[in-house]
Amino acid sequence: MKNIGMRQSLLLGCIADDFTGATDLANNLVRSGMRVMQINGVPSQDLSAPVDAVVIALKSRTTPALEAVDQSLAAYLWLKKQGSRQIYFKYCSTFDSTSQGNIGPVTEALMEAIGADFTIATPAFPDNGRTVFKGHLFAGDTLLSESGMQNHPLTPMTDANLVRVLQAQCQRKVGLVDYKTVMAGATAIEQRFAALREQGVSIAIVDAISNDDLMRLGLALKSLPLLTAGSGVAIGLAQNHGIAPSSQASTLPPPTGLQAIVSGSCSLATNRQVQHFMQTDLPSLAIDPQQLAQGKDVVAQALSWAAPRMAQSPVLIYSTANAQALQGVQNQLGAQAAGEMVEHALASIARGLVQLGVRQLVVAGGETSGACVQALKVAQMQIGSQIDPGVPWCYAHSDASDGAGLHLTLKSGNFGTDDFFTKAFKVLG
Ligand code: ADP
Repeated sequence: MKNIGMRQSLLLGCIADDFTGATDLANNLVRSGMRVMQINGVPSQDLSAPVDAVVIALKSRTTPALEAVDQSLAAYLWLKKQGSRQIYFKYCSTFDSTSQGNIGPVTEALMEAIGADFTIATPAFPDNGRTVFKGHLFAGDTLLSESGMQNHPLTPMTDANLVRVLQAQCQRKVGLVDYKTVMAGATAIEQRFAALREQGVSIAIVDAISNDDLMRLGLALKSLPLLTAGSGVAIGLAQNHGIAPSSQASTLPPPTGLQAIVSGSCSLATNRQVQHFMQTDLPSLAIDPQQLAQGKDVVAQALSWAAPRMAQSPVLIYSTANAQALQGVQNQLGAQAAGEMVEHALASIARGLVQLGVRQLVVAGGETSGACVQALKVAQMQIGSQIDPGVPWCYAHSDASDGAGLHLTLKSGNFGTDDFFTKAFKVLG
């Protein structure tokens, strides 16, 4: 492996606090022209391909703060070993956290480890309706604290003032770079950073309400060793390295093999996508959680159903159900038990399909994707072009694919147009 050349080219090392957030960030970086690899969990091996940025996906958003810190530091150490020039701690664009953390403690631990005396914090992602003005976070047209996030089961956000929110999680002083400064451009932002430093501020919330703001901010971030943000700030970083958007960044090896879809999402968009696929007369098979609960070998049945059909066309295997049917199953089996059982079965099916020669696999559902990626022992994914916003094709290796590469797309529940399941394969070519 050509480690030396590769290490020199790793411009950005990212630590994301959840799985689909990591893909969202990777997607933004690819669109700005960077070649990106997403890694699930802290890797034990070095990078397997030369890229500009790496995104490590953790599951640290709602774990106890100490655990989040440990995981993030382990990710940082690996990124440092790969020669990463700048570190990007990525959290949700609704700043999902509790008053104990985890954004503050992870930020401060990374500052300590890196030796950074100053960093920024902004979840702004205007393309997705997340803007920060005078330190206040808006989701669409409403303040975060009135957006529904105040009722979130795990991370209720009852205050939209991010300076206050982050200060409650930090030992270090939190300040603000306000909109007027951001409008004035990169030099003004850098001057404000210097003034805040003199006032003893270590972490600055930065206002941004448009992509132009993020581009101006990006220039001012060039020499900061650590950035903390949602995925939006990523769009302004490639320009610091003379990298412009290009189709090259998203080029993956050509697709091979058979095509299949595994869907465990019960979201509205996925229900529509399953309906749409069935209307095309392509083969589809429903997985019945009741049969799983009765101990039937649903996995083996699904694989022997799929084997002859996949030679002709893509197949869909789904547990996707509408709200009423889902409720019925959950009442009988328990929501968590049913969910885990179905995830486990779909993950075994995904692995079996790849063993049967599937090399283009669509997985629908966030948790379902996590289970499938684990079952396939996919450690690293190269990020390609997007099929729909937030859903790129990826290229990975699995021990189930007999040494061959595997094209994989992981669609979170409510993403994608109704024809996503057929469109995905057409986009791949
Ligand atoms: P989404 O991204 O739409 O939230 P997820 O995969 O994250 O999708 O979550 C869907 C959950 O519902 C998973 O735990 C899955 O196993 C479970 N599930 C899927 N189909 C059924 C079903 N028919 N009955 C019960 N649970 C189901």
